[in-house]
Amino acid sequence: MAPEFLSVTPQRLRCYVCGTFTESPNGWSYRVRLRGHSPVCPSCRSKAEQEIEQLASNPNLLGAVLFGAVAAAVAATGCYLLEGVPTAEKIGIAAGIGWVVGKAVVFGSGNKRGPSLQWTAGALAGAAILGGQYLILNHLVSKLASGSLSGWLPWRQFWILLGSLFAQGKGFAGLLLFTVAISCAFVVPRAEKLLSEPPRIIRWWEKLVG
Ligand SMILES: [Zn+2]
Repeated sequence: MAPEFLSVTPQRLRCYVCGTFTESPNGWSYRVRLRGHSPVCPSCRSKAEQEIEQLASNPNLLGAVLFGAVAAAVAATGCYLLEGVPTAEKIGIAAGIGWVVGKAVVFGSGNKRGPSLQWTAGALAGAAILGGQYLILNHLVSKLASGSLSGWLPWRQFWILLGSLFAQGKGFAGLLLFTVAISCAFVVPRAEKLLSEPPRIIRWWEKLVG
């Protein structure tokens, strides 16, 4: 047994449902949320299970798509306006975009969770980054054409331009932002679950912040 394991003092747990305290959490479970987890006593386990099931049932997918799309459109405009910032900051912005789109999807779904919302959020966050890229290229092309380009850059041409950027080895920062935004958005609507052991990574994380 590892030494640090022996020095752990018995932790006082409080069931988040009924408020019962314990120092010997045999049979207790842990409701894992997006951030942190809540202990559940054995007699409240089924109630917690029901709540988690409730969270994942009948999401309002139309609302999720609508709210997510609005957030993605705002984010795309933000990408366009922030084109000049350094790549390191852009990565933070991309993570923020993913988070905001994920939150918007959760909100629009009626505060639900689950895989269908995760895919929705991921797709919309990816669309936000692509949309931002489109606005940037559209601006660039219309500037180069000095007004002779009427209207918007056709999507076909956008893809060709994007392809040629990659061919010149210039698109990889964009690809990174794309990946970061999708990953962050994908995590936010993750379904909650019950575990029989407290999740370790979150315990470390709690130690770091607490
Ligand atoms: Zn309880």
